[in-house]
Amino acid sequence: MSHEPAAPGAVAVSDGCAGTLQELLALIAPRGALPRDPRVAWLLDYDGTLVALVDRPGDARPDPEVLDLLGRLATAPGALVEVVSGRSRAVLDAWLGSLPVGLNAEHGLWRKARGASTWTPTLSVDTSWLPLAAEVIAQATGQVPGAHLELKSATLAWHYRIADRARVVAPLRDLRRDLEVLAERHDLSLVNGAEVLELRCRGVHKGLVPARLLAEHPGILIVAIGDDQTDEDLFRGVPPDGLSIKVGVGPSIARWRLHDVAAVRSLLAGAAPARETQPLRADVEPTQDAPDREH
Ligand SMILES: [Mg+2]
Repeated sequence: MSHEPAAPGAVAVSDGCAGTLQELLALIAPRGALPRDPRVAWLLDYDGTLVALVDRPGDARPDPEVLDLLGRLATAPGALVEVVSGRSRAVLDAWLGSLPVGLNAEHGLWRKARGASTWTPTLSVDTSWLPLAAEVIAQATGQVPGAHLELKSATLAWHYRIADRARVVAPLRDLRRDLEVLAERHDLSLVNGAEVLELRCRGVHKGLVPARLLAEHPGILIVAIGDDQTDEDLFRGVPPDGLSIKVGVGPSIARWRLHDVAAVRSLLAGAAPARETQPLRADVEPTQDAPDREH
């Protein structure tokens, strides 16, 4: 790695040193002997990682470029692609359900494996606190034009990205205080995301996903990419030989950093088969009665 300054959008940075995307890609190059075995698991956050953050969460639909990119990456030999998001099952289904990728909704609480038709809960959680918490958040929402509550199966998210900064400060402080009390009482986690405050069951976090994949595929290389506080749990689940990649600025335990969504897409494009390439039939094995070539 050189120590040249990083150029925005094109260069990965690790431990204060700049390097090229090619150098990062070389670390992710397929390893192992059997092409049919998954060897690299891409764990990809969605908002702020695959697509740029937008004022209204509902406007963050995937564009054709990212759909094509994910589709191609998922056909790379030995690659598993898993989107790991705080989004609901319904949104991930609607936006990414047609792709050959695994989906992990609500920070890993729900999983839909690649090719599966149904979602499976990965944990059993108590959601008896949801109505009371929703009521508390609704009161704050009423004080802050532009803020809104997103209600998921076991997560409440208060979005305030488009609210007037000056009008958010006091209600946000009060809401955080009230939710901290609820969190203590009901064993919940209160997490600050990118202009979103989230309340969810303790023990539900993105770190569940790498742990599960490593149990299913021992030795697989985990490449985890994310941009906000909730992705720190994801990074914590990456073993020492894996790659944790923070997108954008801000403190992180990730060992690598990419500047923005464009850099993430460049990295994925470098690892994905070219459009013209037919996907390898990695699932096909020689039949037992195949002719012996030596005779
Ligand atoms: Mg994100």
